[in-house]
Amino acid sequence: MADPPRTVLISGCSSGIGLELAVQLAHDPRQRYHVVATMRDLGKKGTLEAAAGEALGQTLTVAQLDVSSDESVAQCLSCIQGGEVDVLVNNAGVGLVGPLEGLSLAAMQNVFDTNFFGAVRLVKAVLPGMKRRRQGHIVVVSSVMGLQGVVFNEVYAASKFAVEGFFESLAVQLLQFNIFISLVEPGPVITEFEGKLLEQVSTAEFPGTDPDTLSYFRDLYLPASRELFHNVGQSPQDVAKVIIKVIGSARPPLRRQTNTRYAPLTALKAMDPSGSLYVRTSHRLLFRWPRLLNLGLRCLACSCFRTPVWPR
Ligand code: NAD
Repeated sequence: MADPPRTVLISGCSSGIGLELAVQLAHDPRQRYHVVATMRDLGKKGTLEAAAGEALGQTLTVAQLDVSSDESVAQCLSCIQGGEVDVLVNNAGVGLVGPLEGLSLAAMQNVFDTNFFGAVRLVKAVLPGMKRRRQGHIVVVSSVMGLQGVVFNEVYAASKFAVEGFFESLAVQLLQFNIFISLVEPGPVITEFEGKLLEQVSTAEFPGTDPDTLSYFRDLYLPASRELFHNVGQSPQDVAKVIIKVIGSARPPLRRQTNTRYAPLTALKAMDPSGSLYVRTSHRLLFRWPRLLNLGLRCLACSCFRTPVWPR
């Protein structure tokens, strides 16, 4: 007899990776999953429902969930049939880009409350049930910025580093309960995420920032970032496929990068544990040789330069 479908709870499904993942899992040909696709604002559920098609109400249900609210998390879990989550996907996230001097502490705290504490809040809520049943899988959509810092993304990278440290530590204890943790680390993904960020920063004034830093941000970083997304950006569909492989795996990996074209950049850090190679190369390329950086990014787009992602 076939196993009963596993309940997969996903946060942040109104757009991007979360939406794609929810839809692809709900259309699993072997119907192995029941997806609880959650979002903060149910007013935005139209796109997901249209993409889900006939899976809606069958293998996919939509529910409200704000990961930065304890009440919302409790309310969402109380509505799940049987109250049991087999797979939790912490996907909801927000970005923050810009010169540090021009960013408010409130904006930084919001990043941590969503990206880090939002994931922690959900894990605390599902863990007792998973431990009782001695099974479960917690997937976290982290980022390559959880592995290496990126200029003008200090706070976002810090939130993803925090996620990486927290879940790597927790993974050891949870193996004892047959519960797996997987950190999925996309590079640039073409979703509303970057679009929203670029829109915000193109009109933001960053008060208190000196003219040199503002010029580095606007004239060097922003064009390089657009070029990076243009050349190396992945689709949310492709990232969802990688996450589905991780969920379906009998021995899920702790870490999984998704983008082979980005891998040479993460390799710079892995190749030199002192960190100097990555920091100095990034500095030279951005501030001294931006044309070479552009050329390099175009080369990354070409498959002859592709290297395997690590770990495989
Ligand atoms: P997205 O903006 O399309 O999706 C993020 C989702 O999180 C949105 O639906 C948003 O409404 C939701 N969200 C934000 N705050 C929330 C809250 N408090 N409660 C519930 N939902 C909330 O962007 P995406 O690219 O699909 O991002 C998904 C994940 O992927 C994020 O964790 C992001 O950090 C990560 N990521 C994105 C990229 C990229 O380049 N787009 C790269 C690496 C990692």
